[in-house]
Amino acid sequence: MKFYSTPKLLRKYSQDRSIYSIKPSLITFPRTEKDIVAITEYARKHRLPVTPRGGGTGLSGACIGKGIIIDFSKHFNRIVKIGEVTRVQSGVLIKELRPAVERKGFMLPSSPLHEYCAIGGNVNTRSVGPRTVKYGSTDKQIKSLRGILADGRILDTSKIIPKDIVKKISLLQKQIKKDKIADYIKKRPALAGGYNLKALFEYKRINDVITHLIVGSTGTLLLLTEIEFSPPRFKKLADLYLLHFKDFNSLQKVMNSLLKKGAVSVEYVGKESLELWNERYHKKDAVAGLIVGFEKKTDVSEILKKALSTKKVPLNKRPHLWKSRALTLPKLEDKAKKLGLHLPSGIDDTTFYPKDFADIMHEIKKYEKRKGVMIASFGHIGIGSLHLRPFIDMKKNPEELDKIGRDIFKILRKYNGTLVGEHNSGLCRSRYLAMESKKMYEYMRKIKKIFDPDNILNPKVVFNLDPITKNIEYKKG
Ligand SMILES: Cc1cc2nc3c(=O)[nH]c(=O)nc-3n(C[C@H](O)[C@H](O)[C@H](O)COP(=O)(O)OP(=O)(O)OC[C@H]3O[C@@H](n4cnc5c(N)ncnc54)[C@H](O)[C@@H]3O)c2cc1C
Repeated sequence: MKFYSTPKLLRKYSQDRSIYSIKPSLITFPRTEKDIVAITEYARKHRLPVTPRGGGTGLSGACIGKGIIIDFSKHFNRIVKIGEVTRVQSGVLIKELRPAVERKGFMLPSSPLHEYCAIGGNVNTRSVGPRTVKYGSTDKQIKSLRGILADGRILDTSKIIPKDIVKKISLLQKQIKKDKIADYIKKRPALAGGYNLKALFEYKRINDVITHLIVGSTGTLLLLTEIEFSPPRFKKLADLYLLHFKDFNSLQKVMNSLLKKGAVSVEYVGKESLELWNERYHKKDAVAGLIVGFEKKTDVSEILKKALSTKKVPLNKRPHLWKSRALTLPKLEDKAKKLGLHLPSGIDDTTFYPKDFADIMHEIKKYEKRKGVMIASFGHIGIGSLHLRPFIDMKKNPEELDKIGRDIFKILRKYNGTLVGEHNSGLCRSRYLAMESKKMYEYMRKIKKIFDPDNILNPKVVFNLDPITKNIEYKKG
């Protein structure tokens, strides 16, 4: 097995799309599962941590770390079969997989708008996409997973799971079901992050429990090599609307009604982002916009009257609108740069029940005024995911990030929301998982110990209580 450590490669792999930078020791590009077993042997022998990596588009520093980086995207990118049951290697990039799946009449409803991420990264972050309202997160489509454990053994949830893991997870399942924390865990919002403890309640077959615990585990439990999933049949959107609102209450009412009517896509763009879009999508006096899609022709004309303005987007203009949505973040980052500020990620992963959107936004707006800080907002609001990015000077006041994070966390807690959602905890947000519930966090530690007792896989991810500013590099925003 070859390892590389040229300065250029070490620099490239010291970063993802988060605010962090950590120089690894070695980079490797495995071709086979045997190679991965050899990497784990080498790592154990030399006491090096191992960090798996897909496309490196993650926003939480979850694919960077000291030790060995395994880049799956270079050779682990075979599409084995596409159909009702699709099987692929974990490093296939979405820009290759999406068209291949669509050519066969299926779709990837929960892959991010970012095309350079890999399916293994999607599974490990439990990614969501523009149609998650109907199809759920990536988790919902997964059938089985295969990969290599930190100790070099194979785990394949369609056939072989080491007996000790089955036994310990079954015991943990019994224990958690009797624990008071069970009620809390079951009530967390759909996209709440950290290990997916809900899997311990939702699935009966132990193989399914283990599959869905691994989904979203951000490379801390298994070096994923193959994924089996069921993509839904491709459905064109019958109608797509761009709506503007003069206040959050009217947005909330319209959103509630449209969700009841079967909207499959409800994307939110705050005023700060709308203003950076092409003029034809922007509306003066609007506090925010929604992009709303329906798969079936649905009469929503009465509901739409409550919006400040409504545009039905014709088929040929839709790719441009989706592109604008995908470019929201880079455009906001450019704006921050022009203002001599940063737009750090780190505390940008709020998740709550969609019904609480307006109340939460009112509190955030009051907070912005009180603190004199501008916070940009956008996200998959139909499933309660809202990315909040403050414009701050990270060189002068890096500690502002955690202060704002803690204040937003307090607001969210009033509504049973969490600060660890769509992009998971990564290097930056474990602290907020611990703050949310010590008991829940302890169960997550137990799971890590069952899969990886020597803490080799991504040791600082999910269980990192360092200050949020440690290892920051002010490279963006
Ligand atoms: C502009 C922009 C837009 C985005 N939009 C969305 C969006 O709409 N929805 C969304 O969910 N996210 C979005 N993201 C975040 C990011 O694209 C997702 O988190 C994506 O799923 C990460 O995939 P990746 O291949 O880049 O993973 P990486 O960043 O490489 O890794 C992410 C995690 O997965 C682990 N991992 C990767 N491969 C493996 C493997 N083979 N085995 C074990 N662990 C592995 C890594 O260790 C890490 O913990 C966006 C990011 C950007 C920059």
